[in-house]
Amino acid sequence: MSVAINDERTLLLIKPDGVLRGLCGRIIARLEDAGLAVVGLKMVQVGKEQAQRHYMDDPQWVANLGHKTLRTYAKHGRDPVAELGTDDPATIGGYIRGWLIDYITSGPTVACVLQGAHAVELVRKLSGDTMPIDAAPGTIRGDFSSVSAIAANTLHTAVKNVVHSSSDVDEARREIAEWFSPAEICVHRPVSWSAIY
Ligand code: ADP
Ligand code: MG
Repeated sequence: MSVAINDERTLLLIKPDGVLRGLCGRIIARLEDAGLAVVGLKMVQVGKEQAQRHYMDDPQWVANLGHKTLRTYAKHGRDPVAELGTDDPATIGGYIRGWLIDYITSGPTVACVLQGAHAVELVRKLSGDTMPIDAAPGTIRGDFSSVSAIAANTLHTAVKNVVHSSSDVDEARREIAEWFSPAEICVHRPVSWSAIY
C-alpha cells in the first residue's frame, strides 16, 4: 500500500495582533505560495476555557516557557529576579501562560489547518523563531513583528508574535482536534500540487 507523502497536517493561528493589523491575507498567501493546502479556515473569538485548553496547564510546557525566557534574559544580560521577581522557570512560565490567555482572548483569532509534505516543519520554518527579535527576515514573525521577551515582560504581556504554529506532529494532532471538528476540514487537492508533487 502506498503512503501519501502530502497528507501531514498542522495548525496555524493568526493571533489577535495579526488579525487586528490586517495581516491575514498576506500570511495565508505565504502558506499557499509555499505549496500548502488550506484545508480548514475560520475566525474565532476565543473564550477563557478554550484558551486554557490551548495553552495547557502542563508543568513541562510551562517550565519550558520559563527556561526560554531565562535564556533570553541571559542573552540580553538582564536580571530576571530584579525584573520578574524570580528566576524559577515554573513561576515565570506560569506568569507567561496567564499573559498568553489574556493575549489570545483579546480579539479575534484566525485558525487554519494546512496540509502538505512536512507541513509541521514547513509552517514552523515559515513562522520563524518564537522571539520576533530573533526571527529571520523572510519569516512571518521576522517580517511582521519586532518585540523581545524583555520588552513584553516589562509591560506584563505575552510576546506578540502574530502567529502560533504546532511544534511537532503530536502537538498538531492534538491542536487540530481541539480547534476543528472533522466536518470543518475540507479535503481537496490544490491544482498546484500536480506540478509540486
Ligand atoms: P512557539 O509559539 O514558538 O511554539 P512557545 O510554545 O515556547 O513558542 O511559546 C508560546 C508563546 O508564548 C509564544 O509564541 C509567545 O507568544 C509566548 N511567549 C514565549 N515566551 C515568552 C516570554 N518570555 N514572555 C512573554 N511571552 C512569551
Ligand atoms: Mg509552542
